[in-house]
Amino acid sequence: MIKKIYLDYNATCPILPEVISAVADAMAVAGNASSIHSHGRDARKLVEEARRSIGATIDVSPQQIIFTSGATEANNTVLRSFSGQRILVSSIEHPSVIESGVEVISIPVTPNGLLDLGALEQLLTEAPTALVSVMLVNNETGVIQPVAKAAQLAKSHGAKFHCDAVQAYGRIPLTREATGADYLTLSAHKIGGPHGVGALVIAPGTHFEKLLQGGGQERRQRAGTENVAAIAGFGVAAEKAHAALPSYFSLAALRDRIEAHVSMCPAVTVYGRDAERTANTLMFSVRGIPSDTLLMAFDLEGVSVSSGSACSSGTTRFSYVLEAMGVTPSTTLATVRVSLGWGSQEKDVEHFCAVWDKLRERLIKE
Ligand code: PMP
Repeated sequence: MIKKIYLDYNATCPILPEVISAVADAMAVAGNASSIHSHGRDARKLVEEARRSIGATIDVSPQQIIFTSGATEANNTVLRSFSGQRILVSSIEHPSVIESGVEVISIPVTPNGLLDLGALEQLLTEAPTALVSVMLVNNETGVIQPVAKAAQLAKSHGAKFHCDAVQAYGRIPLTREATGADYLTLSAHKIGGPHGVGALVIAPGTHFEKLLQGGGQERRQRAGTENVAAIAGFGVAAEKAHAALPSYFSLAALRDRIEAHVSMCPAVTVYGRDAERTANTLMFSVRGIPSDTLLMAFDLEGVSVSSGSACSSGTTRFSYVLEAMGVTPSTTLATVRVSLGWGSQEKDVEHFCAVWDKLRERLIKE
């Protein structure tokens, strides 16, 4: 049987065993978290415990956390709250920011994939702006963005600041305050928690328009019965990811070995290499081969990697993140994102490198 390895943690992270147990236990709790009887109170307790756990990891009070169905909903909520007003977003934001249904103006990035702070300042001086949205870590390149500086610029021009911290949470130290964000977005499934649950974190006294209407849940800020089991799992994942943060940086050694190995091929270009990146992410391209061909070849060898963000894979669309970084789209430029996480080991690196050698010989001309 073919050996399978998972190197796509930025798309979703395998669920931690402790989370699976916590979700199963929570599923056995019968009540609706809004019911006042004891079953309801048991469910409520799980939700509030998770809120406290998550709050502690980013140094905010639990009241500042609103549970959502994921980061997409949290991002949509923020962007739509500013509908009709001037909104600036980086050109490398996730589609749930760029395509949230409201008009946005794009802030360029440098060839390294870093927000162009000068361009942001220029855009802010051109016209009054209501909201600036910049992610903390890009999902394709892993490049860490200068969000504190962007927040400072936004505020000095009277704009609110939103930060999508989905790919940063559990990977680099993170507090709401350090990002300067009025609104911060988190997702559980990038840190070993369940899919379909996330959080919108709101700075005290900050206004937003609720997206889902017709229920008083989440202190009247997000209608709909709470997904108690998923929220409980999110809380456990947050605690585990936070506790494991000091050792997360050791993934860089594994990532760097893969990077050094593929870089020996002259057809390979690594992106974001000169910028600060999260320890787990490597994005590179290979000249002379279509993305689908290379990804399929990896898949047949049991290696799960992606061509960029999961949301646009399955299509042949070239990465808009790389385009924003000045890479010319081409049907014969394969892009590969390798992303590691809590289950990644030395033997995965060895396996990846062996598969790469085989594919290089067979498919890559240079
Ligand atoms: N923002 C970023 C940076 C992401 O990587 C993702 C997931 N691909 C999302 C938002 C959307 O998160 P969710 O799957 O929780 O809706």
